[in-house]
Amino acid sequence: MPSAPAHISHRPLTLLLLLLLTLGFLATSLASYYSAFDSIRSGIVDTELPLTSDTIYSEIQTDLVRPVLIASMMAQDIYIRDWLLSGEAPSPSITRYLHEVQTRYGTLTSFLVADKSRTYYQAKGVLKQVSPEAFRDIWYYDLKRSDQPYAINIDVDLANQDRLAVFINYKVLDYQGNFIGATGVGLQVDTIAKLIETYQQRYQRRVFFTDSNGRLVLTGAQGGPMASRSGQLLSELPGLESFTADKLKAPSGTYSYEYQGQDHLLNVRFIPELNWYLFVDKEDEREVAGIRKSLYLNLLICLVVSVIILSLVNMALGRYQRRLKALATTDQLTGLLNRRGFDMLAQQAVQESQREHSPLCALLMDLDKFKNLNDSHGHMAGDEVLRCMASKLLSHVRQSDILCRWGGEEFILLLKNTDAAQAQEVGEKIRSLIDHCAIPYQGVTLHISTSIGLAQLQPGESIDQLITRADHALYRAKQRGRNCLYAEPA
Ligand code: GH3
Ligand code: MG
Ligand code: MG
Repeated sequence: MPSAPAHISHRPLTLLLLLLLTLGFLATSLASYYSAFDSIRSGIVDTELPLTSDTIYSEIQTDLVRPVLIASMMAQDIYIRDWLLSGEAPSPSITRYLHEVQTRYGTLTSFLVADKSRTYYQAKGVLKQVSPEAFRDIWYYDLKRSDQPYAINIDVDLANQDRLAVFINYKVLDYQGNFIGATGVGLQVDTIAKLIETYQQRYQRRVFFTDSNGRLVLTGAQGGPMASRSGQLLSELPGLESFTADKLKAPSGTYSYEYQGQDHLLNVRFIPELNWYLFVDKEDEREVAGIRKSLYLNLLICLVVSVIILSLVNMALGRYQRRLKALATTDQLTGLLNRRGFDMLAQQAVQESQREHSPLCALLMDLDKFKNLNDSHGHMAGDEVLRCMASKLLSHVRQSDILCRWGGEEFILLLKNTDAAQAQEVGEKIRSLIDHCAIPYQGVTLHISTSIGLAQLQPGESIDQLITRADHALYRAKQRGRNCLYAEPA
């Protein structure tokens, strides 16, 4: 017998569960992600970047500040001052001095410019005469005019950066404080660039320097932020507009900016010896990628767990629902369909028959003198007879037939695609089967017979009208002495 379609949907409950699980998992995953994110961020901002910047600063002091000290020592040297004041005696002695400085401290060059004679001395002898008109000598006249004791000069010819040098130019003053020349050393830019590369690789972050105006003076091979080059102003870069000379005068600290969708953290530190700013730039992404990965893994686990929970719930609900439906449509004593179950299927069968013009018959059966059986053998015996009757009927009906316990000791059988003549045959078989059935019960053998009313569905007739006519036929069968079948005429 086909079962009735499910009418009760548990989709709202499943959706509610899905919503609760999703919200719960999302809330816990995101909360742990953001707390991990915050602690990593504050670790970088409060500890890591300042520490890196401190370490680089101390390395800078030995690597870059040392030449400044050498140049300062040369400028203070009494020998140099006296030699300049005494009218620059023949050059070999001063070139030996410069050669000595260059080899001892491993600088690229060492030099002295005498203001009186405008002569530029270096380790190999006199190089040239400086002139205010010469482009290459601008640095000297700038230094002379400056109120600072020294200046650091870097040629920013970008096309040829490797061959350039960083010059530390110190003023030489006489004993009254008058300018009498300039001295200092030159370092290969290449050496300093390598130094920055070393810092960058060691600390896995970008390192660069600006002068007091925020102009990039030194960067690694990849340049400054956003691949900017020496000579560029930081404040000209998008997102870094605030790094003007004024902002840089504020105490050092950590700032953030965004470039190509990545968050960057920028630590700034002033290097008084160079009058430069040291920037340590860290891409947040690398650190955050780890916790983002664990967030995705978390969410994936949550998804899998949600899917498993929901399918388990769905399965349990489905099973529970099927059981409920079976309980609601099944007669408990016989296991046959009850009236409720019958109604759903019978309506469909009537519609089908009318649509397809196929015959449909109803057999209404009522056990004969059942009350007597109950009275003489007890109610339990009656129940046993009803159960036995049901299983006999079940074993003799087709899969497509609809069998139902209609009431107390009444059964109804709907036969699809069956006309009255065929139904009469089936009915007779059933009647004879019941009549010849011996039902053993507590040592006695019970016998029962049944009367059957038959009616065939007429065009335009409803299921109720069909059953009413079958009931009339049953009444006739009872009248005719029971244990017989009466077919209601069309
Ligand atoms: P008739 O041949 O005219 O049908 O006589 P009858 O005694 O079968 O008819 P009646 O309708 O007077 O009695 C039906 C009896 O069926 C009455 C009731 O006690 C009994 N009955 C109804 N349901 C059950 C049941 O579930 N179990 C048992 N044991 N008896 C039932
Ligand atoms: Mg009855
Ligand atoms: Mg009866």
